[in-house]
Amino acid sequence: MAQIELRRVSHRYFTWKEETETLRDVDVSVEAGEFVAVVGPSGCGKSTFLSLIAGLIRPTAGEVLLFGEPLRGPSRRVGYMLQHDHLFEWRDVLQNVLLGAEVRRLDLRRARRRALDLLERYGLSNFVRHTPGQLSGGMRQRVALIRTLVLEPDVLLLDEPFSALDYQTRLFLGDEVSRILREQGKTVVLVTHDLSEAISMADRILVMSRRPGTVTADRRIVFSAGRPVPTEARRQPEFQEYFNRIWEELREHVRV
Ligand code: ADP
Repeated sequence: MAQIELRRVSHRYFTWKEETETLRDVDVSVEAGEFVAVVGPSGCGKSTFLSLIAGLIRPTAGEVLLFGEPLRGPSRRVGYMLQHDHLFEWRDVLQNVLLGAEVRRLDLRRARRRALDLLERYGLSNFVRHTPGQLSGGMRQRVALIRTLVLEPDVLLLDEPFSALDYQTRLFLGDEVSRILREQGKTVVLVTHDLSEAISMADRILVMSRRPGTVTADRRIVFSAGRPVPTEARRQPEFQEYFNRIWEELREHVRV
């Protein structure tokens, strides 16, 4: 069973002045554990696509299903990570990471144990009592990711989470984040306008056309025997050649 399913989804925003058609007839289904990147030009409806899955908005036509059920609003099984980390300066790292658990009134002892474990595993155990201002951009995004993981979502939606970072940090963090999410066995939908970022992180790429967004290409990135490419293998020279081939192939679609 697909974890996320969009059936002939169309969407329009209505304001008092105008109507904007953002998505038209989008049919997509994502299986458990898949890492899908959605690529397309700015303004083509990528964030709208994520907001529909997050249950923040509803389609104008068609249907969104999550875990086989029609979506009626935001689900606790879905986590969202945005371009800006939204960490609070007056809270230290641990307090920031526990914020979602407090808001949801989860068992705080369990959440705290999980938070400390994740902070340690992902190299932040020495920064638990630091404030966000004392951290680098890459570390801040890792904290934001851990804050989401503490809530134990099955599905993670990432909306251009690296676009505010410099090039080197992006590369490093992209690697880190895909490793973490694979290790945690999450289903991921990543939105980006950067085709290279998509190829280097995802198992599958959906290319969207200009507005109204439709899916113009759906490409799996597979290793031998059809298995996804592990994060470590993506650094190997053999992958570079494969990478260039996919890039050439999809670039045409991204240009449309
Ligand atoms: P992307 O993430 O691909 O840049 P978006 O999904 O953010 O694209 O936006 C798609 C289109 O919808 C854009 O033209 C944008 O201006 C418009 N839009 C986004 N949010 C709203 C809104 N709340 N009300 C009206 N129009 C919107």
